[in-house]
Order: sequence, then C-alpha cells, then structure tokens
Amino acid sequence: MKVCKFGGSSLANAAQLNKVIDIVLADPSRRIVVVSAPGKRHSGDTKVTDLLIALADTALKGENTDRQFGAVVERYASIADELKLGDDIVRQIEADLKDRLAKVSSLAKEEFMDLMKAAGEDNNAKLVAVAFAGRGKKARYASPKDTGMVLAGQFGDAVLDPCSYATLSRAFSNFDGIVIYPGFFGYTKEGKVATFPRGGSDITGSILAAAVCADVYENFTDVDSVFPVDPRIVPEVTEGIPTMTYREMRELAYAGFGVFADDAVVPAVKARIPINIRNTNHPGEPGTMIQQSRRVVPGTVVGIASADDFCNIIVEKYLMNREVGFGRRLLQILEEEGIPYEHTPSGVDSQCVVVKGKFLPKEKERKVVQAIKNGLQPDFVAVERDITILMVVGEGMCYTPGMLAKACLALASEGISMSMVNQGSSEVSFMLAIRRKDRDMAVRALYKAFFG
Ligand code: ASP
Repeated sequence: MKVCKFGGSSLANAAQLNKVIDIVLADPSRRIVVVSAPGKRHSGDTKVTDLLIALADTALKGENTDRQFGAVVERYASIADELKLGDDIVRQIEADLKDRLAKVSSLAKEEFMDLMKAAGEDNNAKLVAVAFAGRGKKARYASPKDTGMVLAGQFGDAVLDPCSYATLSRAFSNFDGIVIYPGFFGYTKEGKVATFPRGGSDITGSILAAAVCADVYENFTDVDSVFPVDPRIVPEVTEGIPTMTYREMRELAYAGFGVFADDAVVPAVKARIPINIRNTNHPGEPGTMIQQSRRVVPGTVVGIASADDFCNIIVEKYLMNREVGFGRRLLQILEEEGIPYEHTPSGVDSQCVVVKGKFLPKEKERKVVQAIKNGLQPDFVAVERDITILMVVGEGMCYTPGMLAKACLALASEGISMSMVNQGSSEVSFMLAIRRKDRDMAVRALYKAFFG
C-alpha cells in the first residue's frame, strides 16, 4: 500500500486536481491520499491557508470579514465550478467556515486560529473526495477526529501523541478503496483542533505511512526530483538524485535543501518507510527515492548544500586543553540562554561554537560574550557573523581518501578561503565555513569538482 501526499501547488486549481486524480487512479496501491489546502496558482497568488489566517485575524479584531470570507470560498468554488461538481459542496464549505467563525469569541486566540487554519485542508479533502466521484470513482473522506490523530504540545506547533499510531492503524485496517485524508491538523485529547507547524501536511503523510506500514510514502510536489545542488546557483544542473539515504537527506536538509523540513518525515524514517519525492506535473518521472540504504559508488558525493546566516563564537585561552570542564562550561552558557549549537570545531587553545544567527541576536550576543568573559576568563572572545556553511554529503565518501582534499583544492583554485572545517566520524559529510560573499562561487567550484 502507498500513502501519497499532494502539496498545495498540486491542488491549486481544477487542472492540477485532475492530474492528482489521474495519478491516484493509475496505481491501485495508492490507497491513502493526504491533501494540503489549495496553494498558489501563480507566483503572485495567495495560498488558502494564508487567506484563512487573514480571515481569522480580521474576525479576532472584530472587523467585518465578508471580503476575506469571500476570498476563501471563491478558491473552492472556482475548482468546483470548473469540474462541474455542483453547488452542494461549495455550500457545505461555506457553512463549515461560518460555523468555525462563530467560535471566535468562545475560544482562546490560538485555538481559534488553528480551527480556522485547519479548514483549508479539511474542506479540500471533502472537495477532492467529491471530485473523485465526479470522475466516476469512489473515494471516501476520512476525518482526523474519527481516525484518532491525537496531537499534543502547543497550538500551531503541535506534535503527535504517540498513542495515535495504534488508533490510526486500527482505523485504516477497516477501510477499503481510496481514502482522502486532510493534512496539517489533528485533535487534542480535549477534542480541540490543533495544527502542526506550517507545511505540516508532510507530517500527516509521514505519520499515516508509519501507522499503516506503507510500502512507500510518495510525496508529490512540483519538482522532478531532488537536485544535487541548488539550481538557482548552478542552473546547468539537470540530473536529479535517483536515490539517497535518510542520513544523506538529513544532512542536506539541515543545510537548507528544499527537500522538506527534515523533522517532517521523522515518523516515516523511524518506521523505515521509503520516501519517494515525485512531480505531479511529470508523473512518469521516477523522482528521488529516500531510504535506509542504497548501493554506493565509492568516492562519490550525493549533494552539495549551503546555508547562510551562521555565527561563530570564537574563544581562545592559553593552555585551554589542560582546563578540565572548559568546553562544558562554555556550552552551558549557551544552554542557559536557550541557544542550540551546530558545530564545535576546536584547536589546542581555541574553541569555536557555530550557532544559527537567528538564535544569537545582538543583545543575546552581548550577554553571552559577557558570561564567557566572567565565567571562563579567556584571552580572547569574539563573534563572527554572516558565515555561510557548505555541506558536502555522500555515503560514498566513507573510507575514500582525498574527498576533503578535492573540496579544498576546488575552493583554493577560486581563491576562496575557509575559516573552519568539520567532519564527523560517520564520514557521510563534511562542513566548510566560508564568507557569505564567496558562497555562489564556492558552490559552483565544488559542483564542478564532484559532478563535473
Ligand atoms: N496548508 C498548510 C500550509 O500552507 C500546510 C501544508 O500545506 O502542508 O502551511
């Protein structure tokens, strides 16, 4: 059995929805279909989820919501109209939105916001089920409440209550035929609607794939496959990555690869379900398969990623290596400020801690530097900002001499200097830190060296 998830761009209008139906009907093992809310139809357009947020905000301010309400209904109505699905489904969606809006004064702000955001996926799943019927195929809408998608944590940033796996698995064992399931939301134990973070339909798909032990989790989007390098930086890249391992995906996603948020697929990864990224617009393309292991050609790299806006906290102290607990105390200062760290390259008398810039705004930087001065009495402490990290990733690098040398040579030949190098013992990736201004040239040089 396959679980397939279709993102907002795959469901933005009637033509896209027809492609989705074609894809599902082309393979009888595509049994569970997770849908997002309709997304952007063109670059200047607004996603239904954003329209719903605007609608909720207006209602919370106590202002007239007619315009925002009309904008949401119009998106569904235009799809229903083009597909000739009749008025019933549009009226049903309108009534549902009115019901939700009426709860504005009885719910806490964040609860109301989640109730409204969830309307995007919930109503779309109902509309998609009707669209299947319009094509003469039965597909049933399944509700997260009835199937037991129980969420915990904060509204707008909810997480799955692990008890849900058993209930979801039981619920799906009773279904036959095609099931259309809304992504992005579930219910708290108290029965309140709660949403995952934005983009959370990927999480729903991943949870369902794990719950039913799917053979594969197909994630349909608008790219043919995952590219080994950002095509905006290297436009000549044409070949996608056919297969990669979960570890490789994690390393690339970490450095900003737009595969998907790496935490979104944790349930599928933990259950060892292969994930297939595919294109709704080119269903004949095999896409990229992400799985536990793959055949590896020694000395090869799977991808090169870059991420901007890192900071490096540099601490130097003569005889640092003899001072027991120095590293722990340094990291404790960050812990006390709630700052997660990424890498910790070190020298005999120096210790660097690389953190994401967003976690170290200027006023926090001052506090941290002062705490380091007071607590560790260093000879030197400074924070370097605007650092870009490059990640070179590939299982094929393990036990292969010269991979790092090749990267260094490529950067040296362009006159690019590196401020840090970090390679974990897994050898599945190494990190090079450079200045932001050198990023594009560096990525191109590495691409040429490893994929040339
Ligand atoms: N519709 C939601 C969003 O735009 C969730 C999703 O599409 O995955 O974030």
